Amino acid sequence: MAKILIVEDNALNIKLFCDLLAAHGHEPEAVTDSRFALDAARHFSPDLVITDIQLPHISGLELIRMLRDDDKLAEVPIMAVTAYSAQGDEERIREAGAQAYVSKPISVVRFAETVDQLLEGGSDKAEIDAAGGEGRVDPGSGPG
Ligand code: MN
Repeated sequence: MAKILIVEDNALNIKLFCDLLAAHGHEPEAVTDSRFALDAARHFSPDLVITDIQLPHISGLELIRMLRDDDKLAEVPIMAVTAYSAQGDEERIREAGAQAYVSKPISVVRFAETVDQLLEGGSDKAEIDAAGGEGRVDPGSGPG
């Protein structure tokens, strides 16, 4: 089981992502307003952050950079989800510091696979070398 923070402004997507993650035995927590995402992440200490890119107030790209700049959260894998993939978007998202990128509408299989890969410390398209297979600390909290 992993703690996964979802930052997404669309209620239907939140429900879909949370249901999917819960079905895979994870503990999802959702934030709809990206202005509160960094604080939520600091308190929730997620094993993975899934963020929409098209968000009001603070875009997903900005949020990714903020997470990367945070002492406590810099190593947490980030999966970006976006509906509009223009040329160069994926590159920008990866440069900002996300390890994976899934386009909407999501493929349920690909979504779940990417989550698994990131939690295992891998990446769907390589490039997670900095985090390696090492460095993640299991919080060791029991169920409930
Ligand atoms: Mn959105």
